[in-house]
Amino acid sequence: MIIEDEEKIARFVELELSYEGYSTTKAFDGRTGLELAESGEFDLVLLDVMLPQLSGMEVLRRIRRTSSVPIIMLTARDSVMDKVSGLDSGASDYITKPFAIEELLARIRNALRKTMPEDGGVLSASGLLLDTGRHTVTFKGTPIDLTKREFDLLHYLLKNKGLVISREALLDNVWGFDFTGETNAVDVYVRFLRGKIDEVFGIKLIHTVRGVGYVIKDEK
Ligand code: CA
Repeated sequence: MIIEDEEKIARFVELELSYEGYSTTKAFDGRTGLELAESGEFDLVLLDVMLPQLSGMEVLRRIRRTSSVPIIMLTARDSVMDKVSGLDSGASDYITKPFAIEELLARIRNALRKTMPEDGGVLSASGLLLDTGRHTVTFKGTPIDLTKREFDLLHYLLKNKGLVISREALLDNVWGFDFTGETNAVDVYVRFLRGKIDEVFGIKLIHTVRGVGYVIKDEK
């Protein structure tokens, strides 16, 4: 996803990325970019700081409410403030314009590498281990028996550990876009997981953020 109001730059980047085999979508203002990014169908967002309608910083903050998608900020000048506040607000990286396309490509590869766990990776929180390769969940060595849906929900929350995920985003990513039931399906399955994990082992794994969604945090 390329969010950049300078159409020449957006087109140039799109062209170069297509040579590298990436498929891209462009938005020329912050509001359109945010709406597209929130659809959640992108693996990475390139985000200009100076944008009409909604600033790049605001777009960044709003995307981060629901998504851990890697975001590379494009700063117009060598602005230390933009970089610091961008990284503070959850940007994965930044690049200063004008940039060499090779540098941008390297930063894209790096950001994608960090977010895509290898097959067979192990995710953890508060003593709980989820092994994606073996498809097992254990708490301090004790196996936990989960249904496929429970496993997928736990997997998604663990993959986004520390980020609050909305019910809508969970439905899209765990149940899929063809889901037509009630959004309280998420609450029901969170209850199932709490019954099998939190209540059995006496930990607080899945936290409710009222009016927003759910988050898994490491217990302190
Ligand atoms: Ca701009």
